[in-house]
Parts: sequence; structure tokens; C-alpha cells
Amino acid sequence: MKFLSALSLALISVAPAFAQGVGYTDTPVIRGQKWKVHDKDRPNPAIVTPAPTFSHGAPAPSDATVLFDGTDLAGWEKDGGGDPKWKVEHGYMEVVGGSGGIHTKAEFGDAQLHIEFATPTVVKGDSQGRGNSGVFFHKQFEIQVLDSYNNKTYADGQAGALYGQWPPLVNAIKSPGEWNSYDIIFEAPQFDADGKLTKPAYATVILNGVLLHNRKEINGPTNHRATDPYKAYSGKGPISLQDHGNPTRFRNIWIRGLGQYN
Ligand code: MG
Repeated sequence: MKFLSALSLALISVAPAFAQGVGYTDTPVIRGQKWKVHDKDRPNPAIVTPAPTFSHGAPAPSDATVLFDGTDLAGWEKDGGGDPKWKVEHGYMEVVGGSGGIHTKAEFGDAQLHIEFATPTVVKGDSQGRGNSGVFFHKQFEIQVLDSYNNKTYADGQAGALYGQWPPLVNAIKSPGEWNSYDIIFEAPQFDADGKLTKPAYATVILNGVLLHNRKEINGPTNHRATDPYKAYSGKGPISLQDHGNPTRFRNIWIRGLGQYN
């Protein structure tokens, strides 16, 4: 009897942990939303199985700038300066954990970006520790890269999340080791002469042919467990790839400006 009571007490104390999602309860509310940053109670997006290919291997159009063609990192530098230490082989680059993130030497404004990524075939870690990297615009705005395949994590940290702000509409990640394609349209924020925000940033994100965000407003610079306001800048910046300690791979990266209607 004593044993049973102890057991049921143990079960009661353990049960809530299983009932809870992964995430936080002590973070600020995201501006304009009802959810907190990385809210553990925010529902995870539904899973959509993408078709085998969409824009995978898509060659760059004539007016695009090729940022990585599989051969070298000549167009890139290490965050903080210097040559990147990431591995380049078999037509892809791979994050070398601890060597630092990398960014393009060139800067861009409003842009259409094509980039492909594969999360590690050998599954290690969980939640945000599994296949984590990220595509940053202007060193401020992250489109999350994560192995979200059978991996519980908070909704606004899933692959394709506008990290810490908007979960993807659906979870369309491929299984570990498979190539995913991102087609991203990014509109930079605009500021007036006094540095006041006149137009926020927007992102449209297609993962493996599946829409994750349709010109979604970005609330401000990406942060972890925090919600930051915009700070005035030129509206131009590099494309960065995050070193989050996981050997995530990237290939076939090109970018083109959005242009203007006549
Ligand atoms: Mg990341």
C-alpha cells in the first residue's frame, strides 16, 4: 500500500511534464500576438509530406548572383572576419561546429533567395539541439533551419519559423540527410530620416514547394527568449548562415533582387 501510494505520487508528479509542450513560460509576449516567445503551449504546425523534389537543384536565372556553386567559399567570410572554416565537399558546404557562422561578402536589399539544406543523417540531440542552423537576412532576421522531423520543439523554433515570432504554417521538412529547398522572398524594413520605422520587413517562405509564410510581417530582429524592436539601418546586408554546433549542409545558393514594376 505504501509502495502504491509512493508510485501514484510519483506518477502524479511526473504526469504534467509529459502533458506539457517543449518551450518556455517565462518569456515576454510577442508584440501583436497572444503567444509568448517560444511559448510551450503554442500548437505545433501540422505535418505536410512534401513531394520528392520542387526547386531542388534549380539552376540560377541569368540575373541572379550565385552565392555558392558547390566549389568554394570565396564569396563568404567568417562572422567577425577571416576565412570560413566550414567544410566544402561533394558540392555542398557543411557547418563545422564551433568555427563560427559565415556571411556573404556582398550585401543585398529586397531579394529572392534560393538555398538548399540537409540536416545531419546521424540524428543527435533533440529540440533546438538537432540539425539547428539558420538563414539570416542582414544579420538580423532568421529563417530557422532545424531537423523538425519527428523532433519535438517549440512552434516558433520549427524549420521555417521566423524564429521566435511566427511558426511555419505547416511542417514540411524532409527526413534527416535529405535535401530541402528554400525559396524565400525577403523585403527589408524601411526607416525615415529620423530612424523611425516606415515599413516592417516581410518574408515569404516556400519549403520543398510548400508555403510556410505568405508575405508575413517580421516583428523585429530575431532573438532568443526576447522580443526586440527594430533599429534603423540601411536596409541592406549580407546573407548569413548560423553555426549552432550541428553539421548541417547547404548547397546551390543564389539570390536576385526583386526589381520594380514599370
Ligand atoms: Mg537557428
